[in-house]
Amino acid sequence: MITKHPYRIGIDLGGTKIEAILLAPGGDSLLRQRRATPRNPDGPTEYAAIRDAVHALIRNTLAQVPTGHCCTIGVGIPGTINAQSGRVQNANTTGLIGHPFQQDLERLLGRPVAMENDANCFTLAEARQGAARGFHLVFGIIMGTGCGGGISIGGQIHTGRHRIGGEWGHFSVDPAGAPCYCGNRGCVETKISGGGVARAFFERTGRRLPLERIAAGFRRGEADCLAVFEQFLDDFGRCLGGLISALDPDAVVLGGGVANIDELYTLGLARVRRYAFHECIQTPILKHQLGDSAGVIGAAWIGK
Ligand SMILES: [Zn+2]
Repeated sequence: MITKHPYRIGIDLGGTKIEAILLAPGGDSLLRQRRATPRNPDGPTEYAAIRDAVHALIRNTLAQVPTGHCCTIGVGIPGTINAQSGRVQNANTTGLIGHPFQQDLERLLGRPVAMENDANCFTLAEARQGAARGFHLVFGIIMGTGCGGGISIGGQIHTGRHRIGGEWGHFSVDPAGAPCYCGNRGCVETKISGGGVARAFFERTGRRLPLERIAAGFRRGEADCLAVFEQFLDDFGRCLGGLISALDPDAVVLGGGVANIDELYTLGLARVRRYAFHECIQTPILKHQLGDSAGVIGAAWIGK
């Protein structure tokens, strides 16, 4: 019997682990499994090892789908896919770069595989089952070491003409700012990611301190932490205010380690309202609900 609502397999490929989930037709999680990501940075065999590990994990999970039921497959990756060539680009897991990962998996499995950037998967999961459930147009942001974004409209990812929809983290806001790996300077990512703020603190003080410790110092009123954290809040407000002016989403949802900083939802929100092009911005800025599970759940939902 082929049911209208399929089972769904989601794969979240990260730098350290690969996770799989199997969702029942109603969305309930039936099975999760994970394994370490094969690592051989920049070595010629890294791609093949990752591809084969993902392939094996999908096959293992497919074996759990009841006979006669259809099943979709979606894979979230730490990178983007070139809309023309279908090859991976801008990936943190550099072994993927330049490879037609999606086509290779489809060939090995003999069935369609959907593939998206992990920030898109995060956004879709939070829009469908998490903090932004019930909102039509959702902008999701993963603020961690870097800063990735995604757009969900009516429970579907908006990828855009060049498959760069949501790549707001590489919007250059400061021509005199720090160089970004994308080739530009002063990208949003260099300003408001955990890595970006830590670098700003290092440049000011010569000391290395992660963002959580800078936030703690801000709360204690320490001068250097006050200055760097104030700048961070201001950059957050300007970058997000501009984004809201361009897209006017129904909700923004934040994920990643930086999303755990409480001041973003109070002092940061006040800055967003100051910079957005409307005197009374009411866009909710929400903290994620699905935690580390958002990537794998979102990957399950992209399957077609
Ligand atoms: Zn950039």
